[in-house]
Amino acid sequence: MTKPINKHADIEWREGGQPLSRAYDDIYFSTASGLEETRYVFLQQNLLAERWANLAENSTFIIGETGFGTGLNFLAAWELWQQTAPQSARLHFISVEKLPLRPKDLSRALTLWPQLQAFYQQLIDNYPPLLAEGVHRLQFGRVDLTLVIGEASEALGNLYLQQESRDRLVDAWFLDGFAPAKNPDMWTPELFARLAALSKLGATFATFTCAGLVKRGLRDAGFKLGKMPGFGRKREMLCGSLEKLHTNEVSTTPWHLPTATPKRPQTAAVIGSGISGATIARALAERGIQVQLFERGDSPGSGGSGNNQGILYGKLSPKPGPNGDFNLHALMFAQRYYRQHCPQLGHFSGLLQLAQTEKEQSLQAQVATALEAYPGQTLARAVTSIEASALAGVSLPFSGLYFPDAGWLEPQKVCGALLEHKNIERHHASNVELLEYSGDSWLVQTDSRRIKAELVVLCGANDIRGFAPATALPLRPIRGQVSRALATEASSNLKMALCGEGYITPEYEGRQCFGATFKLKETATELRDSEHRENLQTLAALLPEIAEDFSAQKLSGRAALRAATPDYLPLAGPLPKWDSLESTYRGLRKNRKLFINKQADYQPGLYVMGGLGSRGFTYAPLTAEVLTAWILGEPLPINVDLVKALHPARFAIRDLGKNRHSDGT
Ligand code: SAM
Repeated sequence: MTKPINKHADIEWREGGQPLSRAYDDIYFSTASGLEETRYVFLQQNLLAERWANLAENSTFIIGETGFGTGLNFLAAWELWQQTAPQSARLHFISVEKLPLRPKDLSRALTLWPQLQAFYQQLIDNYPPLLAEGVHRLQFGRVDLTLVIGEASEALGNLYLQQESRDRLVDAWFLDGFAPAKNPDMWTPELFARLAALSKLGATFATFTCAGLVKRGLRDAGFKLGKMPGFGRKREMLCGSLEKLHTNEVSTTPWHLPTATPKRPQTAAVIGSGISGATIARALAERGIQVQLFERGDSPGSGGSGNNQGILYGKLSPKPGPNGDFNLHALMFAQRYYRQHCPQLGHFSGLLQLAQTEKEQSLQAQVATALEAYPGQTLARAVTSIEASALAGVSLPFSGLYFPDAGWLEPQKVCGALLEHKNIERHHASNVELLEYSGDSWLVQTDSRRIKAELVVLCGANDIRGFAPATALPLRPIRGQVSRALATEASSNLKMALCGEGYITPEYEGRQCFGATFKLKETATELRDSEHRENLQTLAALLPEIAEDFSAQKLSGRAALRAATPDYLPLAGPLPKWDSLESTYRGLRKNRKLFINKQADYQPGLYVMGGLGSRGFTYAPLTAEVLTAWILGEPLPINVDLVKALHPARFAIRDLGKNRHSDGT
């Protein structure tokens, strides 16, 4: 699990319900006029109404903020956005926060603004259940909130790829964060430099303070300053814009960066319509891109995403690290995503991860301790076997972790529902036979169709490697067979999905699924009695009586292939030209830590999203956001180290660092 934050905001409630921070001895806003002050200082002085009224269709506007606090500034900006910006435009609001409010404090503070209720209720409903350090992406239709938990300048560094065309994103800054006299640690030269590094030329800023160190810091970073009358009793405030660009520092080998500046494409081809294809097609379509989707099967999700019931399962780790961190953030994002996009196909009745082995018990005990560092979190909690049994409605001999907001989904229908969008055109039974770059676009050819697209996303699980530019990706097939039984009187008592050594879902339309087998490198997909027996055996360790009842039935089921990577993290990002990667970074063979400030060639407009293994439905929504950020140059939805941990070139770079060749020598 990511590093726990030191603490949450410690709030003292003053007269009139006004929140005061005990750590800084300062108020979040004035109850008499906080909203008016926000509108005057941040919205008006950044000239947002005028700028937004003049935005082009499908454009993106990015606000950065120091100090999310109660989210009042965000909500006021969102309200104004709705009143002034074109329907098709998209607002990104990035805010950093060192001491996030606990959900109950957030709710209490926001009820002070009944006029914003339609907005704040959505924020409250989507506020992360566990405020781990790092990046949290919340989505509200065409408004994205990227909430970065951590110390301001360090937190902004989480979003920093070290490439100007991708880092200079912000159009306007809200410099909030308690007064410099009470909070001098935030207003540092590093912070001002980072604000400038993330700003477009001409980016505006506004701040309530006129303190000397803020003026100096902003000026030194390249901002031109102006003074305006302050709000209420405050004499003055500052606003201005970035007029001088300092060169941004590059300090790490930029192997992950294609040289091309992200440019908004009009057209995209997505190959594969499992949950990867469905989530990325949807994300692009929602941004106004015309997507052509190619699927070899007869319907969406006919491969690994085609089971009847699929669980939302993430594996938390007690220690910081890419796998645990990605699982944590992907699970939280997925829980919100399916509720928003297809609530009728998600069954969020909770999920129990049961500790069936001593090793798992010890791991879960460590996770439970790590969870205790986040008081008030509601993502998961440890339960005894007695509690687990009461929650599940069946007798369980194991303790576990209970995830109240997880559950299971109807996978194929979810893929279909996500693809219902006016900007997505689907081609089923369409095997892409040729993929070729010609001049400025890709030619995508099936036996009956030839289309051109500015960008292509390869999503077809194990088929991805069938395309020449992607053959070097280390994707491995893993066969999995799920068994399906008629629910019995005893088994239909199960109230939620269980997983441990295997998994079982609650009854739906008279049936239950359990499984799944795990056969590395096997590619056949016929149903096997031997694997039904294996699934029954796994189930018997969890629910022996139910397994016995099921074993008397003629089971149905489904076998399909997952595609996994050697580190079990997805692949999401641009595809390099492998020879160029090798020749540009061959120096890493001698010294893995060598700083090589050169860039390799990348395939223009060719991206991959795959390798989601057995956690496709949990990983895909956030992975699609990562890929969208690559494609469109949007703010990163996870921290930059995780972005690199999902990068398609990571294995080749690791091989270079170990002086290994792609054939394993
Ligand atoms: N913008 C907020 C709103 O709309 O409610 C009010 C912000 S409040 C005046 C200041 C916020 O800055 C607090 O939530 C505080 O925890 C946060 N903060 C203070 N120092 C910080 C730092 N060094 N890094 C990140 N956040 C910080």
